[in-house]
Amino acid sequence: VPGAEMLGVGELVAGYGAEPVLHGISLQVRRGEAVALLGANGAGKSTLMRSLSGLHRPLAGGGIHLDGEDLTQQGPEAIVARGMVLVPEGRQVFPELSVLDNIRLGAFLQPADRESRVEEMLQRFPRLRERLHQRAGLLSGGEQQMLAIARALMSKPRTLLLDEPSLGLAPRVIAELFASLDRLRAEGMTLLLVDQMAGLALALADRAYVMESGRIVAQGSSAEMAADEALAKAYLGGH
Ligand code: ATP
Repeated sequence: VPGAEMLGVGELVAGYGAEPVLHGISLQVRRGEAVALLGANGAGKSTLMRSLSGLHRPLAGGGIHLDGEDLTQQGPEAIVARGMVLVPEGRQVFPELSVLDNIRLGAFLQPADRESRVEEMLQRFPRLRERLHQRAGLLSGGEQQMLAIARALMSKPRTLLLDEPSLGLAPRVIAELFASLDRLRAEGMTLLLVDQMAGLALALADRAYVMESGRIVAQGSSAEMAADEALAKAYLGGH
């Protein structure tokens, strides 16, 4: 059902050790929607993305629901199996493995039709086909980002979490990256995106949330957010 909730986060408290970094985050992403998460460095965006993917367990109260299912206490494998996967900050490809083996690794939970899905990924990202047998560590930053996305897509997600995919990439490569994200979105993927390129993130997204010190401090449609001068000053400078 388009418009129904896909990802629901309620009063999520999480952090490192006993010290919370997220002080009660609530947000919602509807099925097929693209949502941007903005905020200055240290606001807690990566901590939120990692918590959503099961890498940190919530500290107290709060909940994470995906497609109506409670994932609050689930680990990363269960969350990937339920259809939500993180493309982590810094890409995190395995530099010593070939491009092909990096892609294959994304299918570790569903190996059945792995090779046909590898082929789909190579059609989606033709540059990876040219580099298929090279070590992933030799790829350019943009190619590594495509690889990280391809690896994530191999798990057949319906919700993709992207943490700073444009980080360190040249403008032309960033444009190509956002075109790929736009295509995923057009195919019906639900997206939650953190990116410093706030202008591009808002152009892709339907709605946005702004985080500050572990809290959501603003939210609205992308058009409203882009037109908000105070927000633009704080988060859209230069982009
Ligand atoms: P950035 O864009 O710089 O990554 P962010 O909004 O993603 O910022 P986080 O990386 O989530 O923010 O960091 C939020 C807070 O959590 C910061 O105060 C940071 O110092 C702290 N933090 C992050 N990682 C750890 C960790 N592994 N151990 C302890 N504290 C951490």
